[in-house]
Amino acid sequence: MQLVFASNNKNKIKEIQQLLPESISILSLEDIGCDVDIPETADTIEGNAILKANYVTENYGYNCFADDSGLEVEALNGAPGVYSARFAGSQRNDNDNINKVLELLENETNRKANFKTVIALNLEGKQHLFTGIVNGEIIKEPRGTNGFGYDPIFIADGFSDTFAQISLEEKAKVSHRGKAVALLTSFLKK
Ligand code: IMP
Repeated sequence: MQLVFASNNKNKIKEIQQLLPESISILSLEDIGCDVDIPETADTIEGNAILKANYVTENYGYNCFADDSGLEVEALNGAPGVYSARFAGSQRNDNDNINKVLELLENETNRKANFKTVIALNLEGKQHLFTGIVNGEIIKEPRGTNGFGYDPIFIADGFSDTFAQISLEEKAKVSHRGKAVALLTSFLKK
């Protein structure tokens, strides 16, 4: 079976292909000749995942899945959420985004936050959603150089190091993305 992953991120595509049964072959947007930057205009993480998956199914007719992720901070009423990548502006700069979160939380004692990934799968005319969440807290100063995005200021529950201080393998075992992908792969294996 061919399944489009609505992404051109080669690392993500490779990672997911390795987790899936051999009978499923993953195609990227490039593979199907889609060079459009699919607009992410929804106001929720779920909404953007659905929008991307539907764009491919409606315009190209393929079974498809798409993901969207973000950081939700309790004291900020769930912000930056769907706006995580561009929280501090359209330059989409990780350091600027981190600094904005730290400034907004400067005098805040509630540091609870979670990362969330939603995967929307369009398969044979039906849509399925898979959600992965990792709970944790936002620390006061960035630590570590691995990973990306808000990793240097996020410590998952049960850990003492940030996501930027642990290895990719360790992160994948507990992360929002790892959990959502595990739900997708176990569904597709059935
Ligand atoms: P995407 O939907 O996976 O592209 O994620 C959107 C944005 O959420 C990223 O640009 C990051 O700012 C943030 N984000 C998502 N996942 C992570 C993560 O695992 N670590 C740190 N930041 C993340």
